Amino acid sequence: MSASQPPETNGAPAADVPTLLVKIFGKDRPGITAGLFDTLAAFSVDVVDIEQVVTRGRIVLCALVTEPAGVSEGELRATVHGWAESLKLQAEIISGTGDNRPRGVGRSHVTVLGNPLTSESAAAIAARITESGGNIDRIFRLAKYPVTAVEFAVSGAETEALRTALATQAAALGVDVAVMASGLGRRAQRLVVMDVDSTLIQDEVIELFAAHAGCEEQVAEVTAAAMRGELDFEQSLHARVALLAGLDASVIEKVRGEVRLTPGARTLIRTLKRLGYQVGVVSGGFTQVTDDLKERLGLDFAQANTLEIVDGKLTGRVTGEIVDRAGKARLLRRFAAEAGLPLNQTVAIGDGANDLDMLNTAGLGVAFNAKPVVREAAHTAVNVPFLDTVLYLLGITREEVEAADALDS
Ligand SMILES: [Mg+2]
Repeated sequence: MSASQPPETNGAPAADVPTLLVKIFGKDRPGITAGLFDTLAAFSVDVVDIEQVVTRGRIVLCALVTEPAGVSEGELRATVHGWAESLKLQAEIISGTGDNRPRGVGRSHVTVLGNPLTSESAAAIAARITESGGNIDRIFRLAKYPVTAVEFAVSGAETEALRTALATQAAALGVDVAVMASGLGRRAQRLVVMDVDSTLIQDEVIELFAAHAGCEEQVAEVTAAAMRGELDFEQSLHARVALLAGLDASVIEKVRGEVRLTPGARTLIRTLKRLGYQVGVVSGGFTQVTDDLKERLGLDFAQANTLEIVDGKLTGRVTGEIVDRAGKARLLRRFAAEAGLPLNQTVAIGDGANDLDMLNTAGLGVAFNAKPVVREAAHTAVNVPFLDTVLYLLGITREEVEAADALDS
């Protein structure tokens, strides 16, 4: 930069330069924003900042502008008030200096999902944010369906500390709260990897097979033993698959037809794909089902255990690499490497203890209708039964989802 150029000011007025905050509120109608700036244009003021919100037909429009050149501030005030009165709007004009106060260090997005969202919950969350040293800069609604989702933009608090403070509060209130650091990373193209059983689908695939083999109770006993910690995942997998020995392979087709997707699963995947995300599944279940899901849903990655079939019958064994708790985390890393993405741009979603390593390896781990042990260990938890609510955690609004659907239909 040559010495003759003016110092860098980023276009913002210096701190001691007089500025005016012009605030307009009242019943919204077309032309208010244009009308205000038309009125201000006569005074040759520069726009420093604009914010506008419309809630149920009421507008709040704030414009921060430089002071008028060559005419008195009083004249500007009188003209703006006159214009506002002619439209039955209220105006408030506040003198000050410089730009908005700089936001505090530490920026986070706090997403709150409520079904319903009570005013008690909103109050408690706002209070915790304040107690954590955070300032709420902006709040807006992301969705009213299938749950109410709002996002708070918060500055001045450390993201991790805010997450801890709000997690405790969320559990007590029965709402879901996700806290994520702001920044470009949040907008970067990502990879989403999901568990299958009780996450992408409502069923446990092994139980669907067991029903055909008439061994549901035995399978349930093994599952219960694993939950009590008497068997690890691999032992329980082998014990349960052994119970399927001799089952005709034609059952696979039936099981594929019985799988019920979780509500919102298609919306989640379709929207993520439109945004250029890659989407994969990892499952402690079976490739015979996950490969079909990959095909049907247009997924980029799928990995699971493989049921061995000999002479058209299940042998009661699995072949190949075992997908267990460690395996799921390993596969997340592998998919990320194949997608050319750093791990901090990945999202993992799962409900079970065997998803925990994967959830904690991902940039964002979402415990989906998970058991308390999983919920407490994950970055964030969703406890409503709609998979598309994960979109709101990523800052995507319901309106954007529906507008994209409408364009394609
Ligand atoms: Mg699961």
